[in-house]
Amino acid sequence: MLNIEQIEEKIYRIPIPVPFPMKYVYCYLFQEADGWSLVDAGFHYPDAVDTWKQVFKQLSVNPKNIRSIYLTHFHPDHFGLAGWMQELTGAKVFISKEDYVMAERVWGQNSRQASRVGAICRQNGVPDSLAAQIEENMKKLSKHVTPLPSLTVLEEKEVTLGGKTWRVIPVPGHSDGLVNFYQPEQRLLLAADHVLDKITPNISLWPGCRPNPLKDYFSSLNKIDELDIKLVLPAHGAVIHQIQERISEIRLHHEKRLNQMFSLAKDGQTAYKIASEVFQHKKLSPHQWRFAIAETLAHLEYLVSMNQLIKGERNGIIFYKHNVEKGA
Ligand SMILES: [Zn+2]
Repeated sequence: MLNIEQIEEKIYRIPIPVPFPMKYVYCYLFQEADGWSLVDAGFHYPDAVDTWKQVFKQLSVNPKNIRSIYLTHFHPDHFGLAGWMQELTGAKVFISKEDYVMAERVWGQNSRQASRVGAICRQNGVPDSLAAQIEENMKKLSKHVTPLPSLTVLEEKEVTLGGKTWRVIPVPGHSDGLVNFYQPEQRLLLAADHVLDKITPNISLWPGCRPNPLKDYFSSLNKIDELDIKLVLPAHGAVIHQIQERISEIRLHHEKRLNQMFSLAKDGQTAYKIASEVFQHKKLSPHQWRFAIAETLAHLEYLVSMNQLIKGERNGIIFYKHNVEKGA
């Protein structure tokens, strides 16, 4: 038996395995008058497919009765099985406009995203051999997101899930087009990767994304902070009861990291050098290095936008340094 939690009468929280340390992505299945709706699909690999088959059996769901699939964002652990699920169910697959564009850019047939990521790594001081590994590792992801679904842009401000009306709330940061769903009477927030319980959501700068994802993320946290919420249903880890406390902890984490990176930049350091210092206690795989660099860049660019750092270039390599003119 799978550990499927019933959150409310018509809401099921489904743990779908992922081959990453976070172990599961939680997808949410909603019972409707005429069938089912689904939020997020999982990462395409055999364990996840097997799990979905078990889910359908355990809950007596005929996949053909799944009418709508909503993707909170385009990342592979949420998006990867959407095409497989669409073939099985015939459902429409909805995603925000921004992540519709990113999905095409990153997962589309002629995607050059992996080589763009490799190029950004090299520009930011990553040694050639590591940049090549990062690029290779990223290319391998494409088989976990195919077949690609035929996507429909989610234009609605409200959607029906479990027979109730949920507000669609854009929360850019973790991805440009990330959306949350909020149900005001039940005071539930479907938070995807915007707010997580134990780990802090990864906020990264990627080729083609908005220029200041950490700034976007802080504003998106404020949006959620204003809502009256009883329970948060995230896409990884445990459900969250004390959302405001968790938001404060996450803000504090980023403030500490901003301070740390600011100190490390001094009179000129590359993002690679700074990331090496910040993550020195960990032995990183190329996959983790990709996130370490992209997350470091998001923080450094935020500091540039706050006039605390300035960005320069030496022999084609970008470095960040203290803005000494500020306050002088
Ligand atoms: Zn995720």
